[in-house]
Amino acid sequence: MDTPLLISSQIEFAARFFNSVEVVTRTVEGPIHRSSWGETARRAKQLANALQAMGIKRGDRVATLAWNTHRHLEVYFAVSSFGAVLHTINPRLPLDQLRYVVDHAEDVALFFDTTFLKLAQFLAAQPNPLRHYVALTDAAHLPADSGIQGLRDYEGLIADESDQFTWPTFDENTASSLCYTSGTAGFPKGVLYSHRSTVIHSYAICMADALGICTADVTLPVVPMFHVNAWGIPYATAMTGSKLVLPGPGLDPVNLLELIETEKATNLLGVPTVWMALLNHARAQGKKMTSVKKVVIGGSACPPYMIEAWEKEHDARVIHAWGMTEMSPVGTTGVLLPQHEALPDAERFAFKRKQGRPVFGVDLRLVDDDGAVVAHDGKTSGHLQVRGPWVAGSYYKRERDEAHQDGWFYTGDIATIDPDSYMQITDRSKDVIKSGGEWVSSIDLENAAMSHPSVQHAAAIGLPHPKWQERPLLIVVKAPGKDVSQEELHKFLQTKLVKWWLPDAIEFIDALPLGATGKVLKRELRTKFADYKLPEAADRPS
Ligand code: ADP
Repeated sequence: MDTPLLISSQIEFAARFFNSVEVVTRTVEGPIHRSSWGETARRAKQLANALQAMGIKRGDRVATLAWNTHRHLEVYFAVSSFGAVLHTINPRLPLDQLRYVVDHAEDVALFFDTTFLKLAQFLAAQPNPLRHYVALTDAAHLPADSGIQGLRDYEGLIADESDQFTWPTFDENTASSLCYTSGTAGFPKGVLYSHRSTVIHSYAICMADALGICTADVTLPVVPMFHVNAWGIPYATAMTGSKLVLPGPGLDPVNLLELIETEKATNLLGVPTVWMALLNHARAQGKKMTSVKKVVIGGSACPPYMIEAWEKEHDARVIHAWGMTEMSPVGTTGVLLPQHEALPDAERFAFKRKQGRPVFGVDLRLVDDDGAVVAHDGKTSGHLQVRGPWVAGSYYKRERDEAHQDGWFYTGDIATIDPDSYMQITDRSKDVIKSGGEWVSSIDLENAAMSHPSVQHAAAIGLPHPKWQERPLLIVVKAPGKDVSQEELHKFLQTKLVKWWLPDAIEFIDALPLGATGKVLKRELRTKFADYKLPEAADRPS
């Protein structure tokens, strides 16, 4: 039967077959809120009736500035199922970029958490404000004197609406949601997802060798719903009836650990910087996260020690995943082949450190600067290209650009692919350190540094060098309560890296600058260390 793949079918399915499965939220107001998939579906229909009453039409862009909460989840399903486009905005965007994305998307309404009142006020004060503002709270918590004309509270908005609504049927290629890349390079670029791409991506990430989302799981996405649809978790958990635990604004390790323990979370998803803090906190408290079975780590390279810490201290399996906004986002997962499962720890972890093998639906290859395919031998690095049904074919309202060529999308990542098809990212192309015509992988250098027990976090950048074009500077954050000298660390690195990859200098810093999505802002580090002088004698060791 020719049935369109629509997001409404996911929430309908959840309501019919997983009606009472819980959706638990740490709310912005503070207390834990307990809802269910059935209630999510009913309230999404109340919201759909409210959207209609507000005059919102199919195809209109409806924006959110919100944490992972039950209300945000309802907005997710209501807006897309209604036929409008959900534009999730990253609240950590600088103001000029925030304004840019709202204007570019031509958003008509904004649903926001009260945490982000100032951002809503900023947008409401612009010459071309949005038509509707809804605070995701109840009347009692609605900010007084907000200055935002016509501001409504979400609970008041939907309270008197019927929970009966027939989701419209339309072409599965209709737009469902819109995310902007975090703009690490220039202004953010819009990526428009369709119902079809979203549903296919949801099926794919549920596969056991992808993220393996299933009914038995208690899934806790720390990855925000304002970043690439929380890696597709809202959709995949609805489809599989996984219990969903939403941390709201409580992303600090104390709140997270408590939520994991009380809700017995089995499946966690987030970026490495979140786990750094959580693992430290659990260690300091002497706690083992006994319920956790699986931790999906992506967004930036997972430091080797983190894979081991989850496995050895918490008996949890790490799935190192790679993807990007333009890919909905999942591309590869570090699930081992049977022949690698039984390897001794050191060799097994070496495979797990890689970004993994493609999920069915994703095709990938490496090309050189001229676009010719290079060997997938695990040694030759090249520009990583991808294609597939959930890879965006172009950017929103932009002419086709240099990133899309011959049916392939240039990811902007540099990688190797080994004979077993494990892909390993060596760098973002703009972050590679070019030393004497060859590339030093900043990720390898950082991972080597982070395998030292006294190193919590590290970033390598290239600084200009008269002879070698660039040489690496390693910037290090020490682990809490630990110490190491530059000399000791350099000696340690000598045991891990080829000589010419060794940093010419090491600097210690209190914290690395992180961007809106938890990635290290290398651009800021390059500015901060622009006048840094590498030691005079520094020459590229051969
Ligand atoms: P941005 O808007 O910054 O591009 P994305 O979340 O879309 O935000 O970032 C995608 C990029 O993040 C990838 O192209 C890659 O460089 C990096 N990335 C994602 N996952 C990993 C990973 N597991 N290891 C290394 N880099 C990763």
